[in-house]
Amino acid sequence: MTDAHKYSIRPSDPAAHLFEVRLTVAKPDEAGQVFEMPAWIPGSYMIRDYARHVVAIRAEADGVGLDVRKLDNSRWRIEPADRPVTLVLEVYAHDDSVRGAHLDTTHAYFNGPCVFPAVVGQEDVECQLEIGSSELSEARNWRVATSMNRAGAEPYGFGTYVAGDYAELIDHPVEIGSLSIGEFQAGGIPHVIAIRGNTKADMARLCHDLQTLCSYHMQMLGAPKDLDRYVFLLHAPGNGYGGLEHRWSSSLVSNRDSLPIRGDEGISPEYRTFLGLVSHEYFHLWNVKRMKPDAFTPYDLSQESHTELLWVFEGVTSYYDDLALVRSGLIPASEYLELLGQTITRVIRGHGRRRQSVAESSFDAWTKFYKQDANAGNAIVSYYTKGSLIALALDLKLRAETDGRVSLDDVMRACWDKWGETGEGMPERGLEEISADISGLDLSDFFEAAVRGTGELALEHLLHDHGVEYCVRRSKGRKDKGGDDAEASKLPSVWLGATLSLRGGKAVFVSLTNGGPAEVAGISPGDELVALDGVRANVSGSDTRIRRYRIGDKSELTVFRGDELLTLKLKWAEAPADTCYLLMSEEKDTRSLRRDNWLGL
Ligand SMILES: [Zn+2]
Repeated sequence: MTDAHKYSIRPSDPAAHLFEVRLTVAKPDEAGQVFEMPAWIPGSYMIRDYARHVVAIRAEADGVGLDVRKLDNSRWRIEPADRPVTLVLEVYAHDDSVRGAHLDTTHAYFNGPCVFPAVVGQEDVECQLEIGSSELSEARNWRVATSMNRAGAEPYGFGTYVAGDYAELIDHPVEIGSLSIGEFQAGGIPHVIAIRGNTKADMARLCHDLQTLCSYHMQMLGAPKDLDRYVFLLHAPGNGYGGLEHRWSSSLVSNRDSLPIRGDEGISPEYRTFLGLVSHEYFHLWNVKRMKPDAFTPYDLSQESHTELLWVFEGVTSYYDDLALVRSGLIPASEYLELLGQTITRVIRGHGRRRQSVAESSFDAWTKFYKQDANAGNAIVSYYTKGSLIALALDLKLRAETDGRVSLDDVMRACWDKWGETGEGMPERGLEEISADISGLDLSDFFEAAVRGTGELALEHLLHDHGVEYCVRRSKGRKDKGGDDAEASKLPSVWLGATLSLRGGKAVFVSLTNGGPAEVAGISPGDELVALDGVRANVSGSDTRIRRYRIGDKSELTVFRGDELLTLKLKWAEAPADTCYLLMSEEKDTRSLRRDNWLGL
């Protein structure tokens, strides 16, 4: 057996955001060991070239320096050596996102792909990690939170940790700082939530609600055999939102104010959003971290990996994230339907759904979904939101057409049995074939249209069969996310077909809908709106101004394009009914019975 690779990391210069990383390889390749940094991090489908943050690199053996040669963007080869070699890197860490590494005088956080090179050809060898502390006086109370197994370190302590191989080493993000820590059990497995940030969160309440949520997910798909602990790393700044999934943990960012404090009762909309985020990342521990597309088995982190299946791994996960909130009793059915109405609204407002299928959106995630420009709304569809509606449609269709015998839960359980822990990846049509197999239904037309087509999903009928009425109305204005009914008198009859945003104190057109009045008038993304019909325009008052116009009215728009003033003629057109809300039917009948089964009421 080969000796473990010995990695170490310490915050060598927090004020300059520099980590020192050392890596000792006992038996380097005699032809000259090659080291490689990942180009991307699993779960975030964009080439990030993490090697670009390596500020300095050197190698030594027995205290004697070895030559290091850069081979390409991400790889180095060191001079041949017949004894243990040590690579020493200085890594700049100032990306405070769930995909990055961040170090300053208040804390340290890192994802393995940002800081640890792989030993090429020896990726299967066990990796030890020594996490070193900082000499800063502020760091006296710092603790370490990670799902990596301890190998000598005290709980939440600095010291030695261990991972079975390189892939595991880089799948345990690490947070170091003054942390608020809560512990709870779900499915008999210890769970931890560690919060960074100046928060007064009610930890007992958080642990209680997370336990409810995690226990629900645990009973649906069952605990994976290798899941013996789970850690939520939460950064709670004044403003922010995001998450990234891992096998034994997840990194989350959520507004400080979204968390409940002592004495808070009920679930605020912001806390509901936070719980939805937790639910999403947690569901990923099955769906994408263990059960994966064939294209990710194993991950090739040196280049893009294409699959048409992100709608399954992100869309189905997005479907279950909010659904678990109602099924576990954390929110009432009416609130779930409000969230679902908002998701439908996001999808039907995007005209790109008529141009791109979710299969294409998945495949092109690297260059389109992750690199959105002003035209994204017209050109692409989200495999998250539309993917979650396909999951909804499939679930309701299976339930209705098998008289409740088969649901999407059964499909996911069958997929999990086949690809969850077998080491095999899900083939591109895997979920489609299993759905047909276990239901006995011919679903080929459904999947062809929903997954590879760009038509509508016919949710009205499916929801109606489950005692839910699908309604649409016009948007009230900029802040209207949908999901609720609105007074007819508050709805404008016309629209601009454009999104205005406040940038540097100016009202700027950030995106335009193909064929909408603003585009037809000749407005371009980036134009600054100066005046509407001779009166100075601003973003906050724009909804009220627009409400005064009627279909067919004409206006004069004055805009700056760059530094040149333009006057454009705009003809107001009818606002589309692009905002969805859902109503529960009052009657008690077979439909409402189906609804209660679906929502777990
Ligand atoms: Zn996700």
